[in-house]
Amino acid sequence: MKHKQDITAVFARPDGSVLDYPGLEAAVDRGRVGIADAREFIPLPQGSLLLTLPGRSAIGFAHGSRVSIAEFEGGAVNAVAAALPLGYTRTLLPAYDARPGAPPLPLYGYAAVAWRDGALHAAALRTDHLETWSPSAHAAQALDRAIAARRAEFPASLLLAQLERCAREYGCYTAQNAFLRQGEAAIPVSPACNARCIGCISEQEPDAGIRSAQERVRAVPSVEEIASFATAHLDAQRGAIVSFGQGCEGEPLLAAPHIARAIREIRSRTTAGTIHLNSNAGLPRALQTLIDAGLQSLRVSLNSARPQAYAAYYRPRGYGFEDVVASIALAQARGLSVSLNLLTHPGVTDDPDEMDAFNALLRAHPVDMVQTRTLNVDPEVYFAALGRPNREPVGMRAWFKWMRETFPHMRLGNFTRGFG
Ligand code: SF4
Repeated sequence: MKHKQDITAVFARPDGSVLDYPGLEAAVDRGRVGIADAREFIPLPQGSLLLTLPGRSAIGFAHGSRVSIAEFEGGAVNAVAAALPLGYTRTLLPAYDARPGAPPLPLYGYAAVAWRDGALHAAALRTDHLETWSPSAHAAQALDRAIAARRAEFPASLLLAQLERCAREYGCYTAQNAFLRQGEAAIPVSPACNARCIGCISEQEPDAGIRSAQERVRAVPSVEEIASFATAHLDAQRGAIVSFGQGCEGEPLLAAPHIARAIREIRSRTTAGTIHLNSNAGLPRALQTLIDAGLQSLRVSLNSARPQAYAAYYRPRGYGFEDVVASIALAQARGLSVSLNLLTHPGVTDDPDEMDAFNALLRAHPVDMVQTRTLNVDPEVYFAALGRPNREPVGMRAWFKWMRETFPHMRLGNFTRGFG
């Protein structure tokens, strides 16, 4: 029995105002375009960004027939999507028809949006909450004071110069935490990378047609700069974390000897908190040097557990998916806390073929936590690289249910937790 629903399509006028289209059922893309199910939508979360998709006509359904909304009241109109705040995971993509000449979309995690009960709704799930990742813990005035205090404490620090830019210009919470001396603090050190991710936020290929969201770091902070800043952060609060491998840098394993020296120096000064690494984990031997130095926690980024789909997105240079798996095994064997930073995308993550591969990976290497990260990329560019699913995707909500039932002891969420 078809679920009677009241969720209608929306579109944006040239002035950016968003309207609903009464009588037109909303459409979504789950890897295949179809009619939206109102039960998959929640009220648009506070802090969401409403995005107009240039050169793209919103799709809706009238009595089961697909309709493309290219014009309204004689003017060209566009499809709409939302970029969700931290702590949420997108569950469905917007459905649209790209018109000739439509530009590539910038790096956002596009979530489907529709109109229901007199308000905008989004296809999303609340998937985590941690105080140090909430807007209330990042108030502008407190941040200004904290930046002034830290800069006075470490006046010549290249590291803090970079972090101040990240905190102010990019609004990066781990950079802001470095000044606010709370939670997980960023330590970016590596300008180079051994991958060419389609959705890299710090460096885009010249022919990508889009700009990266951040500028790749260029300066490498000294061991002393890193150690003195990190020691102060770790000693300041229980459960504090310092983490190498941030959005503004390349791959930290390419700077392993330098990071290993810094880790040893930190541990010669304090035993507090957690030293963590975010990485593509493509270099297990380099990872070994960090573990020997005292690394305690590793988060491995991946978009897929299928080597071909992994390579299509990461475009790795000099390593393969088997190296990533070897790094996970090594870190587990050495007793590190291991989590996955799963770049989720409807139509890929919840593709039954992908779930079979992911199931096999997690059974062979049961990690402590799977973090679901909404992948920030133009969906059409991503599907062009990986292909649309051959089998009907189960849906991201069903994927979360499957994860909880299949791996009940594995933490699911969005944020790294410290220990010690
Ligand atoms: S691994 Fe990170 S830095 Fe390297 S290309 Fe991918 S997103 Fe960019």
